[in-house]
Amino acid sequence: MLNVDLHCHSSVSDGLLSPAGVAARACANGVDVWALTDHDEVGGIAAARAAASDCGMRHVAGVEISVTWAGETLHIVGLNIDETNPALVQGLIATRSGRQRRAEQIGVLLAQEGIPGAYEGALRYVGNPDLISRTHFARYLVEAGVCQNTHDVFKRYLVEGKPGYVVHRWASLSDTLSWIHGAGGIAVIAHPGRYSLTLLQMSVFLDEFKQQGGCGIEVVTGSHTPDQYAEYAKVAQQYGFLASRGSDFHAPGESSVDLGALPPLPANLTPVWHDWF
Ligand code: AMP
Ligand code: MN
Ligand code: MN
Ligand code: MN
Repeated sequence: MLNVDLHCHSSVSDGLLSPAGVAARACANGVDVWALTDHDEVGGIAAARAAASDCGMRHVAGVEISVTWAGETLHIVGLNIDETNPALVQGLIATRSGRQRRAEQIGVLLAQEGIPGAYEGALRYVGNPDLISRTHFARYLVEAGVCQNTHDVFKRYLVEGKPGYVVHRWASLSDTLSWIHGAGGIAVIAHPGRYSLTLLQMSVFLDEFKQQGGCGIEVVTGSHTPDQYAEYAKVAQQYGFLASRGSDFHAPGESSVDLGALPPLPANLTPVWHDWF
């Protein structure tokens, strides 16, 4: 079986390893085809491509774009993109632009909860100042002894309804799809099992995504349970979507699934990589 991992992060967004470090780990884990998909940023791709080539691994240019749809934050992965495409590059700059202000607001809210200095603390974990993320706050709050691990920080402070959560408007679905398609890429719904959409909302979303030319969905991801592999395999078949596989690896010891370590895609699906080589 070809070991394909098309979703993971480096220190260019909220991962802990450099793009070359992620590549080396993917290689060591036996990954054959690899995409680095940093959040809202393509700045790690050149280094990723070079490092993948050094260790004989096929590289696919990728990105994970933050989208606001019906008030929910959803993630769309773009694969096989031309990362130099001007409209994509501009779109990502615009998508990133609100992160600093949101982070300052998170800092204020956490201070009100009795956790001072969280913004400054989070900044120390940031590789790319444009890309300050809730993950950086989570790492700082663990360091500060507020929580045992980053998952607890999210649960107690950083998800909707919790005291450090700041509502934020990301890119629209239609802009995101037009950036990805304009850059020659394939749009893939990231970790659909993670969203708190109702069944009706999910079906409206899937229809809209398909109507606008979206054609891929993650079936096997580090965010899904085995039951969800089966559930989204069915969705892929119903909608005629290409199926993707990706660990969503962020950091050793922090991510539940390592690079290349997921089970294969269920049978009877067309993989998103079916016509790439
Ligand atoms: P942001 O784009 O700044 O809102 O941060 C989103 C990132 O936070 C995701 O890409 C994950 O890496 C991380 N994340 C979100 N929810 C959780 C969670 N419940 N536990 C751990 N990490 C999470
Ligand atoms: Mn992340
Ligand atoms: Mn995601
Ligand atoms: Mn991700």
